[in-house]
Amino acid sequence: MIQINKIYINGEFVSPLGTETFDLINPTTNLKTGEVTLGNEEDTQMAIAAAKNAFKTFSKTTKEERIAYLQKMHEAVSKREEELVSVMVDEYGGTLQFCRMSVQNAISAFTTTITILKSYDFEKTAGHSKVRFESLGVVGIITPWNASNSFICNKLATAIAAGCTAVIKPSEMSARQTQLIAECFHEAGLPKGVFNIVNGLGNIVGTEITHHPDIAKISFTGSTVTGKAIAKGAVDTMKRITLELGGKSPNIILEDADLNKAIPMAVFGAFMNNGQACIAPTRLLVPQNKLEEVNELAKKAAEQVKVGNPAEEDTLVGPMVSAKQYDRVQSYIRLGQEEGATLLSGGEGKPAGLENGNFVKATVFTNVRNDMRIAREEIFGPVLSIIPYADEEEAIAIANDTTYGLAAYISSSDRERAENIAAQIDAGRVCINGFSHDPFAPFGGFKQSGIGREYGVFGLEAYLEPKAILA
Ligand code: NAD
Repeated sequence: MIQINKIYINGEFVSPLGTETFDLINPTTNLKTGEVTLGNEEDTQMAIAAAKNAFKTFSKTTKEERIAYLQKMHEAVSKREEELVSVMVDEYGGTLQFCRMSVQNAISAFTTTITILKSYDFEKTAGHSKVRFESLGVVGIITPWNASNSFICNKLATAIAAGCTAVIKPSEMSARQTQLIAECFHEAGLPKGVFNIVNGLGNIVGTEITHHPDIAKISFTGSTVTGKAIAKGAVDTMKRITLELGGKSPNIILEDADLNKAIPMAVFGAFMNNGQACIAPTRLLVPQNKLEEVNELAKKAAEQVKVGNPAEEDTLVGPMVSAKQYDRVQSYIRLGQEEGATLLSGGEGKPAGLENGNFVKATVFTNVRNDMRIAREEIFGPVLSIIPYADEEEAIAIANDTTYGLAAYISSSDRERAENIAAQIDAGRVCINGFSHDPFAPFGGFKQSGIGREYGVFGLEAYLEPKAILA
């Protein structure tokens, strides 16, 4: 049985004062693998005090010193790449393919941040004034379970680049991944208190971070419901907030797209990270007159998807992170049928032979209307909705008819046409003909998908406070 009974405060692994424990359950087998001891409010306060104390000197460090720390972190995390992948597969149930990519993102967060930092000027001019970009203070970093270490590395690297110190609260379901990344960061030898990690529950540790007056900013990734609670709590002390929240991203297939390529890609894309991805293209918008052809291609693609043991090379969809998440996804599959959508593949229940884990069948609905709940709400599982549209204008209207606005996708053989549509979509990131990622481009949501941006200079400046000096 794995026992995770330390948190990380002021440069040391220490026993939390909190005594409550949380069971760690393997999502592939539903067997208990261990326990994590949860920190409480006092633990959080001690972590914040350590970060506050460290900020006094860390905010004065030079760009070169911060680059050197980021370099050390990069080395320490890179060294344990394989372990980071295997613990993620085991604890979270992410597929080997996905976890490799996610750990790569975690590792490269340090190198891309170094690149950004090298060319960033902390002093600029505006009008006849000097503008200094100063470190904000102690940052509260609150992250979800669906790519835990990648979020932590990206946020912490940016905080360090900005001269901020941090208190990190990961999901309690990611405790083993957290333990490993904490060991890597410890090995990097940063000054005491620059980063602190408190395992714990959202309504205890997360709430303390949200309300504590010594936290200057919160960088949160998670659900829109939690994001709203954090924003409301943070306003009392006027904290800066970056909120990366949910999505229901449209994937517009234009008439001139090569359907044989675009449809399988759309289906596999919707199932990325077991369907537990904020940017997943879960609404597939297709021309009405091509619906039959699309249905056939989508059904064929979905039937090829291997749902199963996430540790096997060719698995595309592993288990849902928890039994609760499995039940939630099942309820949406039932709802889709009740709402009158046509089930094209998958459906309720577990795939044969996979009864022990939280496995969901790769599910595709067609003839979905955009006013159905399966088209409006984030399901966070391998469930795709195909929605037909009459013309380009209607495709854009459907794409934008959502409370979310995190990402959007367009497939077309005419790049100019696709870019013209991209300009009319309300989303923070629009990908044309594929699912590319650019760590130097801003990432974040329009509307209820969030506030603020991460990545690149946009992300860095969210950890800085501009001060104008007028002479
Ligand atoms: P969640 O909102 O339930 O939890 C996220 C984190 O917030 C966890 O660490 C949790 O303990 C903490 N938390 C919960 N209640 C809190 C409170 N009242 N105050 C402070 N902290 C609290 O999300 P989840 O279920 O872990 O993750 C799935 C969600 O994350 C999905 O909605 C998904 O779209 C979203 N997400 C967004 C992005 C993005 O970049 N936009 C990326 C990944 C996931």
